[in-house]
Order: sequence, then C-alpha cells, then structure tokens
Amino acid sequence: MSHPKEYEFQAEMKQLLHLIVHSLYTHPEIFLRELISNASDALNKIRFRQLTDTDVLDPDAPLEIKIEVDKEKKQFSIEDSGIGMTEEDLIYRLGTVASSGTLEFLKQVKKQNQTVDGNLIGQFGVGFYSVFMVTDEIIVETRHADTDSKGLRWTSKGEGTFTIEEIDKPTRGTKIMFTLKDDHQEFAEDWRVKNIIKKYSNFVDFPISVNGENVNRVQALWHKSKDEIKEEELNEFYKFVSNDYEDPLGHLQLDLEGVVNFKALIFVPSHAPMTLFKEDLEKSLHLYSNKVMIQEHCVDLLPEYLRFVRGVVDTEDLPLNVSRETVQNSPVMAKIKKTLTTKILGMLEEWAKEDNAKYEKFYQNFGPMFKLGVNTDFANRDKIIDLLRFETTKTEKGHYTSLKDYVSRMKPDQKEIYYLSGEHREVIERNPNLEYFKKNDIEVLLLTDPGDVFIVPGINEYDKKPIQSIEKADLDLKPDDDAAEETLNENLSKSLIEVFKETLGDKVADVIPSKRLVDSAVTLVSGKDALDPQMERMMKMMDQSFIAPKKVLEVNMRHPLIKNLSRLNMADSKDPRLRNTILQLFEGALLIDDNLNSPAEFVSRMTELLVEATK
Ligand code: ADP
Ligand code: MG
Repeated sequence: MSHPKEYEFQAEMKQLLHLIVHSLYTHPEIFLRELISNASDALNKIRFRQLTDTDVLDPDAPLEIKIEVDKEKKQFSIEDSGIGMTEEDLIYRLGTVASSGTLEFLKQVKKQNQTVDGNLIGQFGVGFYSVFMVTDEIIVETRHADTDSKGLRWTSKGEGTFTIEEIDKPTRGTKIMFTLKDDHQEFAEDWRVKNIIKKYSNFVDFPISVNGENVNRVQALWHKSKDEIKEEELNEFYKFVSNDYEDPLGHLQLDLEGVVNFKALIFVPSHAPMTLFKEDLEKSLHLYSNKVMIQEHCVDLLPEYLRFVRGVVDTEDLPLNVSRETVQNSPVMAKIKKTLTTKILGMLEEWAKEDNAKYEKFYQNFGPMFKLGVNTDFANRDKIIDLLRFETTKTEKGHYTSLKDYVSRMKPDQKEIYYLSGEHREVIERNPNLEYFKKNDIEVLLLTDPGDVFIVPGINEYDKKPIQSIEKADLDLKPDDDAAEETLNENLSKSLIEVFKETLGDKVADVIPSKRLVDSAVTLVSGKDALDPQMERMMKMMDQSFIAPKKVLEVNMRHPLIKNLSRLNMADSKDPRLRNTILQLFEGALLIDDNLNSPAEFVSRMTELLVEATK
C-alpha cells in the first residue's frame, strides 16, 4: 500500500472542469449515459481481447454493469468487469482532454458566452467529467485486465488536482463512486435511474442492473426484421449510437446476402455537428462481427464525403479476431464500402425525388461535405452531380435547385449554365455582373458555400451545357435590344477607353466596353484563364502572399456618368476630374470585390469629388 500521490490536471482540463461545474445545468442526467458508455467501452475491449487472449485476470467474470444507489445516503456507484485502467490510463486518459473536438467545444462555448446544453458534452467526448455536474467528489477504483496489474484508487474534487494510490482490489474492472449534491439527490432513486437508462442506454450490449434488478434489453436491433422494429426504437437506437439528442432525419436498414453478407442500420442525423469536417472525419459507423463490436468508429466503411452517417454494420464475413490493419486491407471491407455507398446514394436520390423538404434539410446540413464526392468518387460522379443543389437568382434563400431543373428552365437560345460565387447571397446579389442577367431574366446559380468553387468549375459541363462563371471576361452575351441606341459611338468609346487605360496603367489587365452592365458604370471581371474570383479570395485568405492575377475592367458605355466622362474627355483629356473619377470607379469596383486595400485614399478622393460636385 502506498501514500496517495497528487497530480495536477492539464490546463485545458481545468478549463473544462470549470465549465462543467459552472455552466452546464440543463441535462445533468447525461452523466449516467456517459458512465454507462465508458463501462460498455471497457467491456467491449475485454471481450475483444478475450477472443484471442485467455491470459487475463478473472477470465470467467460475467461481462456486466452493476449500478447501486442508496437514497438515504445519497450515494451512487457503477461497476463494470471491463478492461480496467492502469496507473498510466488514470493519469493520461482520465486526466486529459483527449479529443480535438473538445477544445473546439471550449472555444465555441467561450465565444457564445452562454449556458451550454449538457447534451453537447457527450458529442464532444468529455464524458467522464460530466459527473461533476452532480457531485463534488469522485472516487474511482480500478484494476486492469493484465494478470500482473495492481488495484488503484483515483480521487478528485474536480478542482485542479487528483490523487492516485494503490489499493487491494482482487477483481478486474472499474468501480466509480460518489455522493450526490443535495439538489441532485434524485439520481439516488432507483426508479429515476432506471428511467434514464431506458432512455439513453437501452441498447448497450451488456446487461445493466440497478440495485440487483436488470434494466435493459440486450439485443442487436439490426438483427430484427424491418417490420418488427418500431419507429420509437429506431429513434432511441439512433440516439444511442450517435450520442445525439434529436431524432434522425432518416434511416436505412440493410440485410444483404450475396457477394458480401452484412446487415446494417444506418442513419442520417437531422443536424450537422458544430465542427462538421473535423468530427465527422474522426467518427464513423460501428463495425460488428456477428453481434460483437470490433471497431467503434470504422472509418474504412465509408468514403469521406459520406462520413456524416451514423449506425452499425454487422458482418459474418470478417473473422472476429482481426486487427485494425487487417480490417483496413480486407477485400470484404472494400465490398461493403462500395455497397453501402450505392445504397446511401440511392436513399438520397429517393429523398430528392419523393420528399424535397427532407432532402433540402439534408443538403443544408451535410451538403458542404457531401458535394466533395464529385471530386473524389469517380464511380458515382454523375449521380452525385445530379444530387447537387444550388441557390439561384430564381430560388428563395435557403431553397435549392438541381442542375437538371436549371437546364429545364433555360431560355431556348441560352447555351451555357451560369454561376456567380461569393460569401453571402446578399453580397452576390449586389454584384454588378448580375445586371445583364437580371434584365434579361436569365437564371444564375449563386454559389455561397466555399466548397462550391472547388467543385463547380471542375464539372465543366452538364447535359452538354458548359458551366460558366459570369465574372469571366469572355462571356458570349447577346447585346440588349435597346442597348445600341443609347451607347456612346465607337470613336468616343475608343478614345475614352484609352484614357481609362492610361490612368489605370498596370492596375488592370485590360479595359473593354461591357455587354453585361445595365445600372452600374464599371465592373471587374476575370481574364479568360483566371481562377474563379471566389477561389482567388480563398487563396488570399489562406496565403497572404498570394497575388491574384490582374482583372479586366468593363465599362458601361450607356451609363450617364460614362457619357459625362466622354464629354470631359472631348473638351480636355487632361481634366483632373476625369482622372479622379476613373480611379474612383476602379476602386469602387475593387471595394465590391472585397479587394480594396486603401479605403482612406478612396474616401479622401471621394470627398474631393463631392466638394467639386457641390460647389
Ligand atoms: P471517452 O469515453 O470519449 O474516451 P471519457 O471522458 O468518457 O472520454 O473517458 C476518458 C477515458 O477514461 C476513456 O477513454 C477510458 O480510457 C477511461 N475510462 C473511463 N471510464 C472507464 C471505465 N469504466 N473502464 C475503463 N476505462 C475507463
Ligand atoms: Mg466516454
């Protein structure tokens, strides 16, 4: 026996503990789900190890979870016969913020500066410490499954330190004990505890008892037939496998026999996690081999762009005692992945056809991840392209159209599919490049998701119609019917364009008369071989030293201001007002493009011009 040794929590852990104790009030009961989930993980681990290794402590101990509550003493304990913890585990796994998501979580909480829903805690994998919502001190007694392990006691008041000492503990596994705070003594009532278990942990693979009475039904739901499963059970099961608190958007149950045999029960969540790409790439489907879990998050079961789905896959085609590496390289896995992908895409196609509201909800939440499949899954590329959705100048904000529907609405003489990208719809809609399209009632896709600019230009064409950014200089637009008569004649145009070129020098790639402007005097467009402007903005954000290629300035030859400039030009091409106005127009266009670097200069020149105008 040794003296208790004291350890300090890492800084993030302290922060997290503070938050748990002081900000999380809404769902204190989730501590129970977290404890059961950890016990279940530990039992899964020993079950998996015992498949190949019989040399463990207590080899015949039943795999189960026992909860004891004492209403009088306000005490709670939970014990499992799982893998247990070594001293190292206690220090480095229990005392550490493990997942990257947790730090993200902390940041979000700080930013929002508000009470956090306790449910979020589970999603971010800070499970164990949720117990500090209901108690002031936790005691953990544990012994690892290795035969030469020692019994250990870990205690903490959650205030920055914890202690570890050796104890006498003959049995394998972990027991967690604490006394409930006065305002949480309900969790020492056995009916209350049983209800919570039914709500959150009904599908745990191991028997759970409360004061000696069994509570859950141990069953593999995915082994039941479709009509045997109730909607309610499905929702419950989804919440159990995903740690989510909302019902799923939809599900898919598969029972396949043939080239590859597997059963699957998978779900599309109804909302995206806070950190979509981060979290969903770490998480995935649970992999079972004949009802025994062999991997908690088997990322090899799904391509990245579908990693938002949750659920289980159970196959008899994999040997139970496989290592992670064998799973990864197994042809069985490749076959399951291929089949799952096809089935999931099929489900989405069906939603898109039968239930647009559902599909839009899916797309709002997971579209940013899903669409990346266009660039990565060549076998299914066309299917995915058909499943893409876009806001357009003819859809309401938050509603979408498919490329197919866009094409069906194209004007008889329209040969191209047009798009315009930007950060927000409101910003895009003010882009002067849209004027021609608005006036002529031509639909334009509005790309607001940053991912779009990696996808859409690469699609090149759909249904043999080229896909074109309307910010490119080489658009082949038919002039407006009423354009010719209002426009400056060719000589005047040419002469004025020369002045523009002289004034702007190497600030622009070229200056040309515009076919697309209606109400604005000038606009900047990309040269023929330039990147999409939104892509350029992103490059600039990622790389400060990135220098965007120069743009082409288009000038609206029927705009009253341009006509005034032409008059000034005729009278005296050296008139300083001419030069100042040209610079101002150019910088205004930069401003709209979000590319103006010297607003001070812009404003002082504007003031000068206004003084002149109001004289
Ligand atoms: P997570 O479960 O997401 O890893 P937790 O905070 O719930 O995060 O648990 C932290 C770690 O503590 C676990 O990963 C595990 O290593 C260890 N642990 C917690 N409870 C148990 C238990 N009952 N048996 C064995 N190890 C446990
Ligand atoms: Mg946990």
